Amino acid sequence: MRITALSGGIGGARFLRGLLPLLGPGDQVSVIGNTADDIELFGLTICPDLDTLMYTLGGGIDEQRGWGRAEETWHAKAELAAYGAHPQWFGLGDRDLATHVIRTQMLRAGFSLSDVTAALCTRWDPGVRLLPMSDDRVETHVVVASDDGSRRAIHFQEYWVRLHAEVPVLDVVVVGAAEAAPAPGVLAALADADLVLLPPSNPVVSIGTILAVPGIAAAIRTTPAPVVGISPIIAGAAVSGMADQLLAGLDIEGTAAGVALHYGARSAGGILDGWLVHTSDAPDVERLAQQGIRAQAVPLLMSDLPAASAMAQAALRLSGRVPA
Ligand code: GDP
Ligand code: CA
Repeated sequence: MRITALSGGIGGARFLRGLLPLLGPGDQVSVIGNTADDIELFGLTICPDLDTLMYTLGGGIDEQRGWGRAEETWHAKAELAAYGAHPQWFGLGDRDLATHVIRTQMLRAGFSLSDVTAALCTRWDPGVRLLPMSDDRVETHVVVASDDGSRRAIHFQEYWVRLHAEVPVLDVVVVGAAEAAPAPGVLAALADADLVLLPPSNPVVSIGTILAVPGIAAAIRTTPAPVVGISPIIAGAAVSGMADQLLAGLDIEGTAAGVALHYGARSAGGILDGWLVHTSDAPDVERLAQQGIRAQAVPLLMSDLPAASAMAQAALRLSGRVPA
């Protein structure tokens, strides 16, 4: 069985970590990772979601934080600050730094982000084929209101890490997406899949940005594989992160059903066949069925690995594709 998943960082990575133990030796997972959170800092190319996937599935993640390396130290960050270098709000760990240095060095030497990601994955052996959504530069910018009432667009990382998503969102712009091409292998991974999964990743700045790359949404609409997603929203709130604020800013209903209807039923030109909601959102199941999305209510909290595996099992069951 060939499974292709779209993923951001923590929600996608933890779900995929639960999926892998359910699969057999003949099964293959391709992961299309969001690169619109990427940022250039101190001359380095940083790809937070690809790194979260690589570290989580490869056993190097800091479990408490959910991002960055385990047993991290922060000497380089402190030294940069001592020189007065900016920005000082971005979490740049010493171990993590090595990943960014290698990536940047390889990109400067002319390798594509796809090639670089594959090279980094030879160390981490994540058990999936990790594909960046695009080799082209794409960056999410969030349009926020300034104190004087004017609008300004800031990099997503500044909105989230520096401002803690505490300023009202007026719009989200995925800069470069319209001109970007899917990375090699991305469209084929969708067209040739036996199952397409949308893990509980952020619908705006993880899944939404991947879908903004021309060709990717169309490939999901037309793949012969069933497409099943898992809600990142439980009881009207994101389990973690800033999805609620972004959904509100874009006037998308911030509920499990609201996100599913935002993606839309494939039978009505959208991208979903099935959708898992948390048990407390069971009333959404009937509402989604009326709109052509086969939904089911199951526990959706990834409190530990068995819980994530149970969610993945439920997604496989809902899709009708259960590995041998
Ligand atoms: P990021 O790039 O690190 O923000 O990671 P993702 O986009 O992959 O995942 C973020 C989303 O995961 C958030 O919207 C959360 O609501 C969701 N999430 C995190 N933990 C859980 C969980 O245990 N269950 C569910 N259903 N969603 C979760
Ligand atoms: Ca992210």
